[in-house]
Amino acid sequence: MTRTRRTLTFGLATLLSWSAAASAQQVRPYQPAFDVSDYTIALDLPDTGATISARATLSVSRALPRDTLVLDLLDLTVNGVTVDGRAVRFVRGPATIAIPLPKRSGTRVQYSVSIDYGGAVTDGLIARADSAGRWTYFGDNWPNRARHWIPSIDHPSDKATVTWRITAPATKTVLANGKLVSTRIIRGEGVERRETVWREGRRIPVYLMVIAVAPLEPFDFGETACGLAETQRCVPQSVYTAPEQHAAMPGSFARVGEIVQLFSRLVGQFPYEKLAHVQSSTRFGGMENASAIFYSDGPFRRGGTAEGTIAHEIAHQWFGDAVTEREWPHVWLSEGFATYFAALWTRAARGDSSFRSQMANIRSTILADSGAVPRRPVIDTIETDLLALLNRNSYEKGGFVLHMLRAQVGERAFFDAIRAYYAKYRHATALSDDLRAEMERTSHQNLGWFFDQWLRRPGYPEVEAAWSYDSTSRQVNVELTQGARFGAFRFPLVVGIVDSAGVTHRTTVEMTTAEGATVRMQTASTSKPMRVVLDPDVAVLARFAVTPR
Ligand SMILES: [Zn+2]
Repeated sequence: MTRTRRTLTFGLATLLSWSAAASAQQVRPYQPAFDVSDYTIALDLPDTGATISARATLSVSRALPRDTLVLDLLDLTVNGVTVDGRAVRFVRGPATIAIPLPKRSGTRVQYSVSIDYGGAVTDGLIARADSAGRWTYFGDNWPNRARHWIPSIDHPSDKATVTWRITAPATKTVLANGKLVSTRIIRGEGVERRETVWREGRRIPVYLMVIAVAPLEPFDFGETACGLAETQRCVPQSVYTAPEQHAAMPGSFARVGEIVQLFSRLVGQFPYEKLAHVQSSTRFGGMENASAIFYSDGPFRRGGTAEGTIAHEIAHQWFGDAVTEREWPHVWLSEGFATYFAALWTRAARGDSSFRSQMANIRSTILADSGAVPRRPVIDTIETDLLALLNRNSYEKGGFVLHMLRAQVGERAFFDAIRAYYAKYRHATALSDDLRAEMERTSHQNLGWFFDQWLRRPGYPEVEAAWSYDSTSRQVNVELTQGARFGAFRFPLVVGIVDSAGVTHRTTVEMTTAEGATVRMQTASTSKPMRVVLDPDVAVLARFAVTPR
């Protein structure tokens, strides 16, 4: 997703040192005994207000012997539960439904579990009247707010297909994940109602299962990225806006076809049945719901959603949506990838110097951070406030680590590994070491040190360079020292000597992890350099200071 200022608040920093805490706490699997493979969610929405009536049917398989299935559900009233069609005595807790399972032998046992429930939704499904007084309903689940309206195993490790069966006033447009299956008018008294069925045939995490029910009008791009889609030949794309914003389309969405094309070529076929871009009431700037990206409605009324936000959310369709982080501490596999691939879109659309300046901006943002970056590693196993994971580590630093990884293994090995990682884990889940294994395979390098240094340690290198010119021997001497704040890092550093004509001469120096070690470099120069610059191509995440002697 793309953050808004509201999501950038942090809790108090823990006083534990990162290394002690990281080793003390292991991430436990959320519900290893159960796997939901499919949700069918039938929702009856009112003409106005927030009171819903619903039935969810889950296909559940049990991999370990357990006699109770525990589903997440907040707030709403449960009216009845059946297992394989028979009513059972469930226990409603404040945040869960405990459902007894009939005894059955076998190692992998299947159940069909139906929950009748309803009441006034307070979160997850945002029910509200828009500025024109029209009632709208938008799902907004990240990270674990689906449990406010969907009885579920509400964790990214459990992905499932989903069918939405939505009954709503016929005047509203109904959108959801996947492909439109059917619509039919339901005759009755009062406002005419319509049932709309959508089906997402690929497994997605619950946090991406959404509907939009609002007076939305489509701007159609038709078939895009033909030959590059996984479930059919082309990717149908549209932008859905409130009627009064329709005339301003396509605006900054004009290049969505090219963006999908670029990422399909770099990574793999587009994973879903269509791609809708929806003006919505998400609390985030943009939210990457699988095949139905929701954008904050504010920018639609203030000149348009930024193209960078659009590219970021589109990149998530591959990273986050199709390949999902199995555990929250690995959320950089979603946000870091979306950040970096949005920069790769800039490179394709506007050239290398725009790309470099975007990477320089990303680096400045990381270096300016006083929140998570100096305190926590990117893979943060101790943060329990999931919204606090939407920080500079998961986004900007994760993105910059991919940039450095690309330089470390080389262009060819990097994209070969990205494609292999995607092909292996699409419609499933992954952890950071799964990415490392693919990078090691294609590059024939051991990358444990790289992943540890950049993802499991906080901070970044701080490099000071002192240089002098010896006019007798015509040599430039440069002394490079790493500061002690975050310890020493290992990385190649390009030192640029800018001559009197303004030409930069590059020399690569290997910086090492030897604590306090100074690296000396000497290079010939016929005249005194104008200046010395470190990392002229924005390749390393580090703070640099250069002083002439
Ligand atoms: Zn994102």
